Amino acid sequence: MNDYLVKAYAFDGMARIYAAKTTNLVNEARKIHGTWPAATAALGRVLTGSVIMGAMYKGDIALTIRIDGGGPIGGIVVTTNANGEVRGYVGNPEVHASTNEDKLAVGYVVGKDGFMHVTKDLKVRDIFTSSSALQTGEIGDDFAYYFVISEQIPSSVGLGVLVKEDNSVMASGGFILQLLPGAQKKTDLVDQIEANIKALLPVSEMIKREYSPERIIEEITKGNHQIVETLPLKWACDCDKDRFARGLLSLGVKELEEMVNENKTIETECHFCRKKYQFEPNEIQKIYEAAKVNIKDV
Ligand code: ZN
Repeated sequence: MNDYLVKAYAFDGMARIYAAKTTNLVNEARKIHGTWPAATAALGRVLTGSVIMGAMYKGDIALTIRIDGGGPIGGIVVTTNANGEVRGYVGNPEVHASTNEDKLAVGYVVGKDGFMHVTKDLKVRDIFTSSSALQTGEIGDDFAYYFVISEQIPSSVGLGVLVKEDNSVMASGGFILQLLPGAQKKTDLVDQIEANIKALLPVSEMIKREYSPERIIEEITKGNHQIVETLPLKWACDCDKDRFARGLLSLGVKELEEMVNENKTIETECHFCRKKYQFEPNEIQKIYEAAKVNIKDV
Protein backbone atom coordinates (compact mmCIF):
# COMPACT_ATOMS: atom_id res chain seq x y z
CA MET A 1 0.00 0.00 0.00
CA ASN A 2 1.41 3.39 -1.00
CA ASP A 3 1.60 6.26 1.46
CA TYR A 4 -1.34 8.61 1.46
CA LEU A 5 -3.41 10.95 3.58
CA VAL A 6 -7.17 11.29 3.94
CA LYS A 7 -8.92 14.46 5.08
CA ALA A 8 -12.46 14.35 6.43
CA TYR A 9 -14.99 16.46 8.25
CA ALA A 10 -16.45 14.70 11.25
CA PHE A 11 -19.04 14.90 13.99
CA ASP A 12 -21.58 16.89 11.95
CA GLY A 13 -19.01 19.46 10.86
CA MET A 14 -17.69 20.08 14.38
CA ALA A 15 -14.22 18.66 13.68
CA ARG A 16 -11.79 18.02 10.87
CA ILE A 17 -9.57 15.01 10.86
CA TYR A 18 -6.55 13.89 8.89
CA ALA A 19 -5.11 10.39 8.90
CA ALA A 20 -1.96 9.28 7.09
CA LYS A 21 0.10 6.23 6.37
CA THR A 22 3.79 7.15 5.97
CA THR A 23 5.64 3.82 6.22
CA ASN A 24 7.39 4.10 2.86
CA LEU A 25 8.52 7.70 3.12
CA VAL A 26 9.84 7.22 6.65
CA ASN A 27 11.73 4.13 5.50
CA GLU A 28 13.17 6.23 2.67
CA ALA A 29 14.35 8.79 5.25
CA ARG A 30 15.92 6.00 7.30
CA LYS A 31 17.82 4.66 4.28
CA ILE A 32 19.11 8.11 3.27
CA HIS A 33 20.26 9.11 6.76
CA GLY A 34 21.13 5.72 8.24
CA THR A 35 19.10 6.49 11.35
CA TRP A 36 19.14 4.06 14.26
CA PRO A 37 15.72 2.91 15.53
CA ALA A 38 14.88 5.62 18.11
CA ALA A 39 16.13 8.30 15.70
CA THR A 40 14.05 6.73 12.91
CA ALA A 41 10.97 6.91 15.13
CA ALA A 42 11.63 10.52 16.13
CA LEU A 43 12.27 11.69 12.57
CA GLY A 44 9.35 9.58 11.30
CA ARG A 45 6.92 11.15 13.75
CA VAL A 46 8.04 14.66 12.79
CA LEU A 47 7.84 13.82 9.05
CA THR A 48 4.32 12.47 9.57
CA GLY A 49 3.02 15.34 11.72
CA SER A 50 4.57 17.85 9.31
CA VAL A 51 3.20 16.36 6.11
CA ILE A 52 -0.27 16.36 7.71
CA MET A 53 0.23 20.00 8.75
CA GLY A 54 1.19 20.85 5.16
CA ALA A 55 -2.02 19.25 3.90
CA MET A 56 -3.98 21.82 5.92
CA TYR A 57 -2.90 24.43 3.34
CA LYS A 58 -3.57 24.95 -0.35
CA GLY A 59 -1.35 26.15 -3.17
CA ASP A 60 2.33 27.07 -3.27
CA ILE A 61 3.44 27.11 0.36
CA ALA A 62 6.45 25.81 2.26
CA LEU A 63 6.54 24.84 5.91
CA THR A 64 9.68 24.23 7.94
CA ILE A 65 9.31 22.49 11.28
CA ARG A 66 12.30 22.53 13.64
CA ILE A 67 12.39 20.67 16.92
CA ASP A 68 15.27 21.32 19.29
CA GLY A 69 14.81 19.56 22.60
CA GLY A 70 18.41 19.34 23.78
CA GLY A 71 18.43 15.51 23.55
CA PRO A 72 21.14 13.35 21.96
CA ILE A 73 19.47 13.47 18.52
CA GLY A 74 20.63 17.09 18.28
CA GLY A 75 17.56 18.59 16.62
CA ILE A 76 15.19 17.64 13.82
CA VAL A 77 14.40 19.70 10.71
CA VAL A 78 11.58 18.89 8.28
CA THR A 79 10.22 20.82 5.32
CA THR A 80 6.96 20.09 3.56
CA ASN A 81 4.35 21.65 1.27
CA ALA A 82 0.64 21.35 0.53
CA ASN A 83 1.21 18.61 -2.05
CA GLY A 84 2.17 15.76 0.25
CA GLU A 85 5.93 16.11 -0.31
CA VAL A 86 8.23 16.01 2.71
CA ARG A 87 11.92 15.73 3.59
CA GLY A 88 13.93 16.03 6.76
CA TYR A 89 17.06 15.25 8.73
CA VAL A 90 18.31 14.95 12.28
CA GLY A 91 21.50 16.32 13.83
CA ASN A 92 22.75 12.93 14.92
CA PRO A 93 21.17 9.94 13.14
CA GLU A 94 23.12 7.35 15.10
CA VAL A 95 21.30 7.50 18.42
CA HIS A 96 19.19 4.82 19.98
CA ALA A 97 17.52 4.19 23.35
CA SER A 98 14.64 2.06 24.61
CA THR A 99 12.32 2.47 27.56
CA ASN A 100 11.96 -0.09 30.34
CA GLU A 101 8.95 -1.45 28.43
CA ASP A 102 11.23 -2.02 25.43
CA LYS A 103 9.67 0.80 23.44
CA LEU A 104 11.69 3.27 21.37
CA ALA A 105 12.57 6.12 23.73
CA VAL A 106 11.66 9.00 21.41
CA GLY A 107 11.10 11.52 24.22
CA TYR A 108 14.54 10.79 25.61
CA VAL A 109 16.47 11.08 22.32
CA VAL A 110 14.60 14.28 21.32
CA GLY A 111 14.62 15.88 24.78
CA LYS A 112 12.03 18.33 26.02
CA ASP A 113 14.22 21.26 27.00
CA GLY A 114 13.45 23.47 24.03
CA PHE A 115 11.01 24.49 21.37
CA MET A 116 9.12 23.49 18.27
CA HIS A 117 9.40 26.21 15.61
CA VAL A 118 7.11 26.33 12.59
CA THR A 119 8.12 28.66 9.75
CA LYS A 120 5.47 29.33 7.14
CA ASP A 121 6.31 30.68 3.73
CA LEU A 122 2.96 31.34 2.10
CA LYS A 123 4.77 32.92 -0.90
CA VAL A 124 2.52 35.99 -0.81
CA ARG A 125 3.42 37.75 2.40
CA ASP A 126 6.38 37.76 4.72
CA ILE A 127 7.70 34.53 6.08
CA PHE A 128 6.73 34.10 9.70
CA THR A 129 7.71 31.72 12.48
CA SER A 130 5.78 30.73 15.56
CA SER A 131 7.13 28.65 18.39
CA SER A 132 5.87 26.62 21.30
CA ALA A 133 7.66 24.97 24.20
CA LEU A 134 8.19 21.22 23.89
CA GLN A 135 6.02 19.20 26.27
CA THR A 136 7.44 15.68 26.27
CA GLY A 137 9.63 15.38 23.19
CA GLU A 138 7.37 12.50 22.13
CA ILE A 139 6.36 14.72 19.14
CA GLY A 140 2.61 13.98 19.09
CA ASP A 141 2.07 15.91 22.35
CA ASP A 142 4.33 18.66 21.07
CA PHE A 143 2.38 19.09 17.83
CA ALA A 144 -0.91 19.17 19.79
CA TYR A 145 0.46 21.83 22.14
CA TYR A 146 1.73 23.85 19.18
CA PHE A 147 -1.75 23.93 17.60
CA VAL A 148 -3.33 25.04 20.87
CA ILE A 149 -0.72 27.70 21.74
CA SER A 150 0.19 29.09 18.34
CA GLU A 151 -3.01 28.61 16.36
CA GLN A 152 -5.63 28.44 19.14
CA ILE A 153 -7.03 25.20 17.69
CA PRO A 154 -7.81 22.42 20.18
CA SER A 155 -6.23 19.34 18.62
CA SER A 156 -5.57 15.71 19.29
CA VAL A 157 -2.48 14.26 17.62
CA GLY A 158 -1.41 10.61 17.34
CA LEU A 159 1.90 9.78 15.65
CA GLY A 160 3.68 6.44 15.66
CA VAL A 161 6.53 4.51 14.06
CA LEU A 162 7.38 0.83 14.51
CA VAL A 163 10.83 -0.41 13.53
CA LYS A 164 11.65 -4.00 12.54
CA GLU A 165 14.49 -6.14 13.86
CA ASP A 166 16.52 -5.30 10.75
CA ASN A 167 16.04 -1.56 11.55
CA SER A 168 13.73 -0.96 8.57
CA VAL A 169 10.35 0.67 9.15
CA MET A 170 7.49 -1.75 9.78
CA ALA A 171 4.71 0.78 10.18
CA SER A 172 4.39 4.55 10.37
CA GLY A 173 1.45 6.89 10.38
CA GLY A 174 -0.60 9.39 12.28
CA PHE A 175 -3.74 11.39 12.69
CA ILE A 176 -4.61 14.95 13.67
CA LEU A 177 -8.10 15.82 14.83
CA GLN A 178 -9.02 19.49 15.24
CA LEU A 179 -12.15 20.94 16.79
CA LEU A 180 -13.83 23.60 14.68
CA PRO A 181 -15.31 26.80 16.14
CA GLY A 182 -18.29 26.07 18.36
CA ALA A 183 -17.33 22.46 19.11
CA GLN A 184 -15.68 23.21 22.45
CA LYS A 185 -18.96 24.38 23.95
CA LYS A 186 -20.50 21.00 23.21
CA THR A 187 -19.03 19.17 26.17
CA ASP A 188 -20.87 15.92 25.39
CA LEU A 189 -19.28 15.88 21.95
CA VAL A 190 -15.81 16.68 23.33
CA ASP A 191 -16.21 13.88 25.90
CA GLN A 192 -17.29 11.47 23.17
CA ILE A 193 -14.33 12.36 20.93
CA GLU A 194 -11.91 11.97 23.85
CA ALA A 195 -13.40 8.57 24.70
CA ASN A 196 -13.16 7.41 21.08
CA ILE A 197 -9.51 8.46 20.87
CA LYS A 198 -8.69 6.87 24.23
CA ALA A 199 -10.12 3.57 22.98
CA LEU A 200 -7.90 3.55 19.87
CA LEU A 201 -5.02 1.17 19.39
CA PRO A 202 -1.68 3.00 19.11
CA VAL A 203 -1.52 4.45 15.61
CA SER A 204 1.59 2.47 14.63
CA GLU A 205 -0.21 -0.71 15.72
CA MET A 206 -3.19 0.17 13.51
CA ILE A 207 -0.88 0.71 10.51
CA LYS A 208 0.90 -2.56 11.31
CA ARG A 209 -2.48 -4.30 11.20
CA GLU A 210 -2.96 -2.70 7.78
CA TYR A 211 -5.69 -0.30 8.79
CA SER A 212 -6.02 2.21 5.97
CA PRO A 213 -6.18 5.96 6.78
CA GLU A 214 -9.92 5.70 6.03
CA ARG A 215 -10.26 2.93 8.62
CA ILE A 216 -8.37 5.00 11.23
CA ILE A 217 -10.81 7.87 10.66
CA GLU A 218 -13.69 5.39 10.94
CA GLU A 219 -12.33 4.17 14.30
CA ILE A 220 -12.23 7.74 15.63
CA THR A 221 -15.58 8.95 14.31
CA LYS A 222 -17.54 5.68 14.46
CA GLY A 223 -18.73 6.51 10.97
CA ASN A 224 -19.82 10.11 11.59
CA HIS A 225 -17.69 11.75 8.90
CA GLN A 226 -17.42 12.71 5.23
CA ILE A 227 -14.14 12.25 3.36
CA VAL A 228 -13.25 15.36 1.38
CA GLU A 229 -9.80 14.66 0.01
CA THR A 230 -7.18 11.98 -0.55
CA LEU A 231 -3.55 12.99 -1.10
CA PRO A 232 -0.59 10.76 -2.06
CA LEU A 233 2.44 11.31 0.19
CA LYS A 234 6.09 10.95 -0.72
CA TRP A 235 9.64 11.75 0.27
CA ALA A 236 10.93 14.47 -2.05
CA CYS A 237 13.93 16.81 -2.06
CA ASP A 238 14.00 19.68 -4.55
CA CYS A 239 17.67 20.60 -4.14
CA ASP A 240 19.78 21.36 -7.22
CA LYS A 241 23.28 22.57 -8.01
CA ASP A 242 22.13 26.18 -8.61
CA ARG A 243 20.98 26.44 -5.02
CA PHE A 244 24.40 25.39 -3.75
CA ALA A 245 26.06 27.80 -6.20
CA ARG A 246 24.00 30.61 -4.65
CA GLY A 247 25.11 29.38 -1.23
CA LEU A 248 28.77 29.63 -2.29
CA LEU A 249 28.11 33.09 -3.77
CA SER A 250 26.79 34.23 -0.40
CA LEU A 251 30.13 33.38 1.24
CA GLY A 252 31.45 36.65 -0.20
CA VAL A 253 34.44 37.77 -2.23
CA LYS A 254 37.12 37.24 0.40
CA GLU A 255 36.33 33.61 1.14
CA LEU A 256 35.76 32.82 -2.53
CA GLU A 257 39.10 34.35 -3.40
CA GLU A 258 40.77 31.98 -0.93
CA MET A 259 38.96 29.06 -2.56
CA VAL A 260 40.12 30.17 -6.02
CA ASN A 261 43.70 30.37 -4.74
CA GLU A 262 43.47 26.89 -3.24
CA ASN A 263 42.42 25.64 -6.70
CA LYS A 264 40.58 22.62 -5.32
CA THR A 265 37.29 20.91 -6.12
CA ILE A 266 34.69 21.87 -3.54
CA GLU A 267 32.09 19.31 -2.50
CA THR A 268 28.79 20.41 -0.98
CA GLU A 269 26.14 18.11 0.43
CA CYS A 270 22.37 18.53 0.83
CA HIS A 271 21.42 18.08 4.51
CA PHE A 272 18.03 16.70 3.51
CA CYS A 273 18.85 14.05 0.90
CA ARG A 274 22.65 13.74 1.28
CA LYS A 275 23.12 14.34 -2.43
CA LYS A 276 26.59 15.73 -3.18
CA TYR A 277 27.38 18.50 -5.64
CA GLN A 278 30.93 19.12 -6.85
CA PHE A 279 32.27 22.48 -7.93
CA GLU A 280 35.43 22.35 -10.06
CA PRO A 281 38.02 25.15 -9.76
CA ASN A 282 36.75 26.80 -13.00
CA GLU A 283 33.20 26.86 -11.56
CA ILE A 284 34.46 28.39 -8.31
CA GLN A 285 36.25 30.98 -10.43
CA LYS A 286 32.94 31.89 -12.13
CA ILE A 287 31.16 32.24 -8.80
CA TYR A 288 34.01 34.41 -7.54
CA GLU A 289 33.71 36.66 -10.62
CA ALA A 290 29.95 36.92 -10.03
CA ALA A 291 30.55 37.87 -6.39
CA LYS A 292 32.93 40.65 -7.47
CA VAL A 293 30.31 42.01 -9.91
CA ASN A 294 27.71 41.98 -7.13
CA ILE A 295 30.01 44.05 -4.93
CA LYS A 296 30.47 46.64 -7.70
CA ASP A 297 26.69 46.85 -8.08
CA VAL A 298 26.25 47.87 -4.48
ZN1 ZN B 1 18.47 17.41 -1.39
